[in-house]
Amino acid sequence: MHAVHKLHEYRKSISTTTYKSRGQRVVRCPLCQLAKEYCICAISPINEKVETSAGFLLLMYDTEVLKPSNTGKLIADLIPDTYAFLWSRTVENPDLLAVLNDEQWFPLVVFPQEYADAEREVFSNNVVCPEGKRPLFIMLDGSWREAKKMFRKSPYLDKFPMVSFDAKAVMQKINDAIATEPANVALAMPQSAVNNHLSPVGDDSRYTVRKTALEHQFSTAEVAARVLDMHGEGDNAKILDLWFDVFNYQYQKSVCQRNKGNVNAIANYQDFIAKTFEV
Ligand SMILES: [Zn+2]
Repeated sequence: MHAVHKLHEYRKSISTTTYKSRGQRVVRCPLCQLAKEYCICAISPINEKVETSAGFLLLMYDTEVLKPSNTGKLIADLIPDTYAFLWSRTVENPDLLAVLNDEQWFPLVVFPQEYADAEREVFSNNVVCPEGKRPLFIMLDGSWREAKKMFRKSPYLDKFPMVSFDAKAVMQKINDAIATEPANVALAMPQSAVNNHLSPVGDDSRYTVRKTALEHQFSTAEVAARVLDMHGEGDNAKILDLWFDVFNYQYQKSVCQRNKGNVNAIANYQDFIAKTFEV
């Protein structure tokens, strides 16, 4: 069990009522939270020797961790040093503060630049860490409204620089690539973005399971992939994108609406994993 699995257990244990998620009658895998027959745990990147210098810290809003559609857990499947905590406006969590104060980390808050004060340092192209430090990407995981609240009401995060990417620029890059070299796009771009471009849903929405938090239209896992890319870990970013596509596709199999996921998601992911980790 990784940090998000453990937090899920904990959050469930302190619930006074049963959390009623969408599709609550579905019998779910306790780890990936997909319907048992669509479980993806056997092919999780957690089984691979992933090389990374990055860490992630997920601050999760109340029942976010209980939502089967949450994609924060996909980050923990890939990145061994992933921490997960429940967010609280009023109660100080010493375990959370201990991670933030750990000398090895260079904590960065992942959030749209437009919310930064004028004096706040914001990395928007690549992430530059001080010598001897590793980046710790802090993700505010909840609905968009909840993420904004966490950003405003967590004074202990104010001293850290921010990481931000231009969501519109990412979409533009994908559209340009499709226009010029449609055959190669699948290799270079997040598959879900390509797929959604071909059958667009809503206003730029790439994650079709539910309206999402970070950077408005990207899922938490997709945002994490963008910051891994900015940190220079392109292969890990790609694995996370592909792993998200696997989750997204499998998740929608048990939702009563047309599956807008990528039918090739599992094959694409497994091909890339084989290529990356072959000995
Ligand atoms: Zn599973």
